[in-house]
Amino acid sequence: MYRQPMTRSVYRALVLLCLGLLGACATGPRFEEVATKDTSKSFTTVVVDAGHGGKDNGAYRKFGGAEKLATLDVAQRLSRKLRASGMHTVMTRSSDVFIPLEERVNIENSQKNCIFVSIHFNDSRRRGIRGFETYYHSPNSIELANRIQAKLMTIPRSANRGVHHANFRVLRLAKYPAVLVECGFLSNPREGGEARDSDYRDELADRIAEAIVAQRHGGRRTAKANEAAADVATPFLNHD
Ligand SMILES: [Zn+2]
Repeated sequence: MYRQPMTRSVYRALVLLCLGLLGACATGPRFEEVATKDTSKSFTTVVVDAGHGGKDNGAYRKFGGAEKLATLDVAQRLSRKLRASGMHTVMTRSSDVFIPLEERVNIENSQKNCIFVSIHFNDSRRRGIRGFETYYHSPNSIELANRIQAKLMTIPRSANRGVHHANFRVLRLAKYPAVLVECGFLSNPREGGEARDSDYRDELADRIAEAIVAQRHGGRRTAKANEAAADVATPFLNHD
């Protein structure tokens, strides 16, 4: 790719802009600092968070229906599978109700020794975009995020959009390791269609449960997990 050399005036404007941004960072509001606990290998409880609910549909597409219903179904399946593996689970919601983000965080932070896994489906104006994404905020959550992403990538014909750092409130304010999983794009005809299929939603829950169990009881990080750790796409920051 050919890159146009920078002119002096453009360079000067950039320097001024950077200085301005530095100033803003120094004086502007900061995110709340949360003291995190690393329970990523000792946790006994999994807080399973079904994204959206009630008046908040989340993404809504004709291929996939309302995001809030798909997230609830995957979350319920995930919770059942984790219980079958001997883990204690807490659901932030188990029906179609609206739960504010702060309350979801409170539910997590009031547990003793847990991790938090939030289930979402994605949306884009571009129908061709598809694939799985997993988000984390604290360094304690990276390994779990990588494991979940790598397990999802074992689903046939899946597309990898990578593991990314994000400032979503449910991750940023979490005291324990916390991840948010985007289980595909409802805006994509194929993934939206799959999201309507209960067998497919069960497979999603299966893979996420396997990753959580492997995280708790050890298990080798695969080459795929390391691959998934690489940022491969620009994230869609559509969850606050
Ligand atoms: Zn969502």
